[in-house]
Amino acid sequence: MQDSVIHGMYPSQALLLTVDVTLFSIAVLGSVFVIVQWKSLRQANAQYGCAWLLTGVWTLVLTYSADFYTIAVLPFLIGEAAALEIQRNLHLRYSWYFNATASMLVLVGLVLLVVSLVRQIRAINSHSEMLQESESLLNSIFENAPVGFLIKDAAHRVENSNRTYQDWYGLGPDVLHGVRTDEVENFQPPKDVAIMNQQETEVITTGQTVHRQVSRRFADGEEHIVSITKFPVYDRHGNISKVGSVSVDMTEQVRAYEATNAALCLAEEANTAKSEFLATMSHEFRTPLNAILGFSEYLRAEFNGPLGDRKYLEYVGDIHTSGHHMLALVNDSLDISAIEAGKRTLDIETFELLPVMSECITNVQNQLRRRNIMLTRRFDAAPKSISADRRAITQVVLNILSNAAKFTEQDGAIDVAITHDDDGTTFTIADTGIGIAADSLLRITEPFTQGQTNPHLSQQGSGLGLSIVKSLVEMHGGTIDIESAVGEGTTVSFTIPANLRPDAFTSPAHQHLDDPHQHLNLSATTSGT
Ligand code: ADP
Repeated sequence: MQDSVIHGMYPSQALLLTVDVTLFSIAVLGSVFVIVQWKSLRQANAQYGCAWLLTGVWTLVLTYSADFYTIAVLPFLIGEAAALEIQRNLHLRYSWYFNATASMLVLVGLVLLVVSLVRQIRAINSHSEMLQESESLLNSIFENAPVGFLIKDAAHRVENSNRTYQDWYGLGPDVLHGVRTDEVENFQPPKDVAIMNQQETEVITTGQTVHRQVSRRFADGEEHIVSITKFPVYDRHGNISKVGSVSVDMTEQVRAYEATNAALCLAEEANTAKSEFLATMSHEFRTPLNAILGFSEYLRAEFNGPLGDRKYLEYVGDIHTSGHHMLALVNDSLDISAIEAGKRTLDIETFELLPVMSECITNVQNQLRRRNIMLTRRFDAAPKSISADRRAITQVVLNILSNAAKFTEQDGAIDVAITHDDDGTTFTIADTGIGIAADSLLRITEPFTQGQTNPHLSQQGSGLGLSIVKSLVEMHGGTIDIESAVGEGTTVSFTIPANLRPDAFTSPAHQHLDDPHQHLNLSATTSGT
């Protein structure tokens, strides 16, 4: 009786089977889905929710399967009474626990899924905000950059263009977008379009960027020089889907470059003309000067009898001195023009230093004696001989020494020293003369620069001496250093390297274009008085 009551409470076997099959299908399909989508579910952090949910569903499947088994199969295997006993136990004792556990698992799984879903939505929201921000940033750059931007599809149709590009050509997006540029009336010449299309195809097939400089007529009616760079644009699968191009208006830079070049050519021509003029003029001066010097010397010696009035003798002396000064000027001009024209070459030989120094000192001895200037020689650390151009070294030492003699006053002193180390041989000539003002010092080695305002002293020089000194020292690959303080004195030193570089043996042509202070160190001290 009791058995039939329990039995009567069961749903029909067909209904049980339908529920079982449905649940089983859901569990299988759900499991397959989770396995296949495991990577995406992990990325979305939904793997735990799915695991709980599936465990709940499988628990339900097992419970219902056991139910079906005890009702439909077991009576045939172990007899109706024994099967009924097992059914009763299952229903009254275990079924509730299984169903409750399964429901809990499903519930927890659902909660976890909802939580991960909410999180995912939040992440997507903030991501899309960021995307919007970066998109508007890119848009601002695209629209406002002072370069022309153009995006074309693989069929050379314009997809997008920026304001700068549209303004340049006076074409709006309604005319430009969605068509090829050769379809826009009076826009680009067909030849230009053909090259452009060919370049775009090259970008798409090779993935390389290509450059081109073209001349284009803008809406302002002027021809502009535009530098165009075309580059590949990739889609999210990494395939080249479009071609981008950046156009930069180079007109001003190109014009400025052309103007600078033209000015440079003119300056070079003018400099060559100047050097040639100087060389010719200096050469032409020498013949009459030799006559002036020779005849004035002859008159001064009064070979053909006395000149009469003593004043004449004085005038002849003046003519001779001025002639000498002029000859020195002509020689300096010839030297500097030869150096500037790149015609002066060095004749390197190894020679004794002492005779050269003595020759230079003898040259200024009279001047020193007249003003009681004491000259000290410190050659102890000097090498016996050096390798250099003897004539150039003599000229350099003589120029510096005669400046020291010229600008040192009564009872002053001059110190001449030579030292040697790994860098080479250094010559130092220091005087206690009038010194050079700081502002003059900066330009003192430039041709025709004189540092003093004293007209008597100015007349004695050409302003070329230090310029020749600097050029000759640099031709040897050496350096020059000038330190001076007004009222205290000047120290000029130069170093001739021990190992001369052969490329330094020719004078630099067009020296005016070089940095005038490249191998020169100038320092001025302000006198305390
Ligand atoms: P200059 O033939 O006029 O002496 P330089 O090129 O040799 O031409 O010198 C340029 C100027 O530098 C001189 O006019 C002079 O003002 C200044 N100067 C050169 N050496 C000295 C020195 N030792 N003391 C003072 N001034 C000097």
